[in-house]
Amino acid sequence: MNINTAKSVLQNTFGYADFRHQQSNIINELINGADVFTLMPTGGGKSLCYQIPAIVLQGVGIVVSPLIALMKDQVDALKLQGVKAEFLNSSQNYEEQRRVEQLIVSGNIDLVYVAPERLLSDYFLSLLDQAPIALFAFDEAHCVSQWGHDFRPEYQQLSIISSRYPNTPKIALTATADLKTREEIVQVLNLANAKIFVHSFDRANIQYRISEHKNSKEQLLRFINSEHQNDAGIVYCLSRKSVETTAQWLCEQGKTALPYHAGLATEIKDNNQQRFLRENGIIIVATIAFGMGIDKPDVRFVAHLNLPKSIEAYYQETGRAGRDGLPANTWLAYGMQDVIKLKQMASQSDGNEQFKFITQRKIDALLGYCEVSSCRRQVLLNYFGETLAEPCGNCDNCLTPPTTWDGTSAAQKALSTVYRTGQRFGVGHQIDVLTGKVTPKITSFKHDQLSTFNIGNELKAMQWQTVFRQLISMGFLAVEMDYGVLKLTEKARPLLKGECSIELKVQKYKNTKSAQNKKQSIENDLTTSELASFDKLKQQRALWAKERNVPAYVVFHDATLIDIARTAPKTLSQLLAVNGLGKTKLELYGDKIIALLS
Ligand code: ADP
Ligand code: ZN
Repeated sequence: MNINTAKSVLQNTFGYADFRHQQSNIINELINGADVFTLMPTGGGKSLCYQIPAIVLQGVGIVVSPLIALMKDQVDALKLQGVKAEFLNSSQNYEEQRRVEQLIVSGNIDLVYVAPERLLSDYFLSLLDQAPIALFAFDEAHCVSQWGHDFRPEYQQLSIISSRYPNTPKIALTATADLKTREEIVQVLNLANAKIFVHSFDRANIQYRISEHKNSKEQLLRFINSEHQNDAGIVYCLSRKSVETTAQWLCEQGKTALPYHAGLATEIKDNNQQRFLRENGIIIVATIAFGMGIDKPDVRFVAHLNLPKSIEAYYQETGRAGRDGLPANTWLAYGMQDVIKLKQMASQSDGNEQFKFITQRKIDALLGYCEVSSCRRQVLLNYFGETLAEPCGNCDNCLTPPTTWDGTSAAQKALSTVYRTGQRFGVGHQIDVLTGKVTPKITSFKHDQLSTFNIGNELKAMQWQTVFRQLISMGFLAVEMDYGVLKLTEKARPLLKGECSIELKVQKYKNTKSAQNKKQSIENDLTTSELASFDKLKQQRALWAKERNVPAYVVFHDATLIDIARTAPKTLSQLLAVNGLGKTKLELYGDKIIALLS
C-alpha cells in the first residue's frame, strides 16, 4: 500500500499537515505488512503510528493497553475525529460488550482498545479468529518487562498473539529506553524481525530545574504561584503520607490539589484522576503510582518534592509535562536527607547482588545529574546514549550558571571529622562536632576533645549539610544502611591528604532570576487580541467538552486553539489549515468558531 493514503488520513482525519519524525517510516512498514518496535518519548506522537495503519488497512486494529481507566477518553477523542473506534473492558455491561464484539467480527470498525487479560481469554481469541484483523498494537510495551517498574504478568502471555497470528503486522510502543527492558520486549513479543525505530529522547519544550530545599512546600508554592497560577500540574512525593499532607496544605493555600496513591480507595483514585483530566488547573499530588498512560497534553508542570529512584524514573515522570509540545516546566527540590534515604534504600533493596549493584549505579547516576553544574539536558541525553552538541539554554544551569567555590578545606574538615569520630555517626553529629555544639552525645563520647571540634565556624549548620550532601553524592562518603552512619570511601583519601581539590556548588534556594524572567509561558507569545480570542475559544471549548462529557483537550488541544487565535481564520478552508483540526471537527464546530471570532 502507498504512504499517500496514510498521509491523506493524517490531513483529513487528524488535521495535521505533515508526519513528524519517523511516523511515516513506521506507518509505511506496518501498511506493508512488517512488524515494528518503536521507542519514542512521551509526546513524540506514538498513537498515530498505529491508528493510521488501522484505519487504512482492511479489518480492525487491536490495541492492547493496560490503562482501562483511560480507554474511554482515547476512544472519545477518536470518535470526535470521525474514526470508528471502541473499547472493550470490564466497565461495560453485557449488551455493550456484545455490540463491540459484533463490530469486531463484522470488521465494520477501525480500532478496538482491549486490556491484555481480555485479549487473551479463549473466548476473545476465538472471536478474533473469525474477524478481519488489520494489526496488533502493544501500547506501553514495557509492561512485559520484569525490570521495569510497571510490570504486568499478563503482558508476558502476549507471546501467544505472535504465534497465533504470525502474518498480521504488530507494533510495540514504549517510552522506556533502557536496554534491558528493550531486549525483554523484543523477546517476549517475538519481535526479533521487527523494524526498530528509536527516536531522540530530547524533550526540547521541557525546562529542567533542580534546587536544594530549605522548606520545600513553601518553595513549591512560590514556584506554582509565580509561574503556574492556573495550570494543571503533577507534584510527586515519596510517601503516601506526604502525598496527603502536601495536597491538604496546597488546598489550604487556595490551590485545587487532589491526592493520588495506591492506598486510596479505587473510587477516590478514579474520581481524582478524572477531575485532573477534565477540569482546568487541577494539581494532582501523587506517588509514582500515578501517571502511566496519562495522555493529558496540557500538563504545564511536574514537580518533585523528593528524589526519584533513577534517571529513567525522573525522565518518565517529568515527561508527563508538555506532551502538546508547548513550554512546560519541571522542578525538583531535594536535600541531604533525600540523598541519605536514597543511598540507604539502595543498600537495603531486596534482590541479588547484581540487582543491588545496578540499583546503586542508577542512584549514583541520578545524584550526579542533580549535582552537575553544566547543562542538565546534555547529562540526561548522554545517559540515554545520545549527545547534544551545544548546551540547551533551557535548564537552570544554562539559564543561570551556578557559582562554585573552592571547597577543598571544608571537605577536608568534614572528612577528617568523619574519620576522627570513628566512622560510627551520622551527618547531624558530624555537623555538631564541626560547629562546636555541646550535646549529650558530644560530651559522652568526649568529641569536644577532637582536633576538629569547633573548627567549622565559617559555615552554618545548613551550609555544612550542603557540603555533606555533595560529598555523599560525589562518592567521597558512603552511607551505612541502618543508622545513616557515614564512612570514608577510597575516593576520600587523596582529598584528605591534600593531593586533590574540590569545587562545590553554592546553593540556590530560590528560583533563579533569569529562569523567572525567561518564564516560559504560552500567553507571552500572543498579542493582546490573540490572547482575547484564545480565552474566548477556551470558554467555548469548555462548553463543548461538557456537552459531550469529555475532557477539554479531547475537543481541541491548546495548541490548536492557539493556532486558531494566531491565524484568525475567516473561512472554513482557512480554518481547516489549522494544526489538529480535521474534517469531522470542521463539520461539527467550524461555523461556530468562525462566528465566534468575527
Ligand atoms: P505519545 O503517545 O507518543 O506520548 P501522542 O500520540 O499522544 O504521543 O502525541 C503527542 C501529541 O502530538 C498529540 O497532541 C498529538 O496530537 C500530536 N501529534 C502527533 N503527531 C503529530 C503530527 N504529525 N503533527 C502534529 N502533531 C502531532
Ligand atoms: Zn541546559
